Amino acid sequence: MPDTMERLSRVSAAWRGACPACRAPEAGTGEYRDCMGCGSVWVPSRRDYRYDDEYPAFRGHHDDAIAACKIKTFERWQRRLETPLAGKNVLEVGFGGGATLAWMRDRGATVSGVEPVAANRAAAAALGVPPARIAARLDDIAGEDFDLVFYLDSFEHETEPSRHLEKLNRLTRPGARALLVLPVADCLSRRVMGRWWPHDIRDHWVFYSTLGLTRLWDHHGWSLESTFHPSKYISGLTIARHVELKTRVPLPAAPLRSTAIWLNFGERGLIFQKTAE
Ligand SMILES: [Zn+2]
Repeated sequence: MPDTMERLSRVSAAWRGACPACRAPEAGTGEYRDCMGCGSVWVPSRRDYRYDDEYPAFRGHHDDAIAACKIKTFERWQRRLETPLAGKNVLEVGFGGGATLAWMRDRGATVSGVEPVAANRAAAAALGVPPARIAARLDDIAGEDFDLVFYLDSFEHETEPSRHLEKLNRLTRPGARALLVLPVADCLSRRVMGRWWPHDIRDHWVFYSTLGLTRLWDHHGWSLESTFHPSKYISGLTIARHVELKTRVPLPAAPLRSTAIWLNFGERGLIFQKTAE
């Protein structure tokens, strides 16, 4: 008969390997783990990815043209909430360069943001977001009652999603809503492109399925209100850089700078509402 400590450590090891979305037991031993319960996919070796000050350059967080495209994109996505931002207490988790926070503040929202990269926190402060409302971790925020929470390509970076949602529940009012946009496992482009899928990169440790996300948020008292197809306004320059990386053929930057198109490679938008007290 194993002693209590031995049993506890065995239980905790089993939980570490379970599906991050629905907690079904881990299947497979390869680099990519698939959940038989909800269809989410995760890569345990990527879970310890470190976000440093090189990260914003890697992701183009401080490029003005990219920020302008992000705003144009976000303006369209947030209309899905069908509610004015003015007077709302808003939180954005993983705000990148901070352009969306400043944009919401300009529309009358009280904005707070969580961002692990110090250079990004400084960028948001430079855009006029009050430093007291900028935190490195959700754990550093207290005494708030948020109405709206945004995760724009960020929820898939949370390495402890359940713990994160427990904390979020202490910072949101009943009836609060969360809008997420993220690449999902259950999309056509991932099935077609396999390992060439553009979202399959070193800082993405999990690709939730829509079912997995719904179960995870539901487990914490949030019900799925709606889903949407979140196209992104992407500049010709960004697309050209990706093509150059693959083909090593330089493309003319000047004419591409002013062009942009709406694209979606396997991302889903989801809106959850907090139904629990
Ligand atoms: Zn699962």
